[in-house]
Amino acid sequence: MLRLRVLASGSGGNCSLLTVGAGHRTRAVLIDAGLSPRRTRRMLVESGVRPDQVVAILITHFDRDHFHPGWANADLAHTRVWCHEQHDPPSLFPGRDRPVLRTFSGCFEPAGPVRATPVRLAHDAEGVTAFRLDTDDSALGFATDLGRVTPELLSVFGGVGALAIESNYCPRMQLESARPEFLKARIMSGRGHLSNDEAALAARAIGAGTVVLLHLSRQCNTPELARAGHRGRVIVSSQHEPTEWLTVEPARAMSAAEMIA
Ligand SMILES: [Zn+2]
Repeated sequence: MLRLRVLASGSGGNCSLLTVGAGHRTRAVLIDAGLSPRRTRRMLVESGVRPDQVVAILITHFDRDHFHPGWANADLAHTRVWCHEQHDPPSLFPGRDRPVLRTFSGCFEPAGPVRATPVRLAHDAEGVTAFRLDTDDSALGFATDLGRVTPELLSVFGGVGALAIESNYCPRMQLESARPEFLKARIMSGRGHLSNDEAALAARAIGAGTVVLLHLSRQCNTPELARAGHRGRVIVSSQHEPTEWLTVEPARAMSAAEMIA
């Protein structure tokens, strides 16, 4: 069983913790490393995970809030950093053995029984990777910093037990904010971030048992607004507090009607 705990999410730094297995056989995977190595290690220990149990870090993209520069020199003896081949940035690990870094273009296995299926999406110039992570008895979809939801994302994520998805902004708050117009345009362009409504529509189409909302804007959103469009169990992540642990449910078969819808 996969278990998920979002340690922090937002423009101040993103890091989510996944574990698989129990006791001394527990292995952990991080999605994004946007907190300093020191803060990450402290939060791992507070979550009952030893840093040497982290076997993989999956990077959605290399914006500063998803990859803290401190990781370039961190001790990663037990850990492999995975990124899409189009993101492979040799400059991030100067003078370091390349074996720390692993690139993927299709499915890969970041940790023993965990299978990862990447989906590439639009986000600024470089794009972003979303991940579906499966074990025999759980399935998680994880997508953040995506400009828009695509048919491919809906089809790969269809029927996951849990969906973690960005719910960045309320369009009205965005438009009424004091932000410069170019920034509003970038965020809402379809290559920026996902609104509450877009996240809710995607969650409904995917039909996950539990939805975890990621990367809420401090200026242009509230947890209540982000939550409002969802039915069923919703967990809202925060920049400052880790979420509760979520046991990720198994995938369920999508009906033909759902697949067509
Ligand atoms: Zn971000």
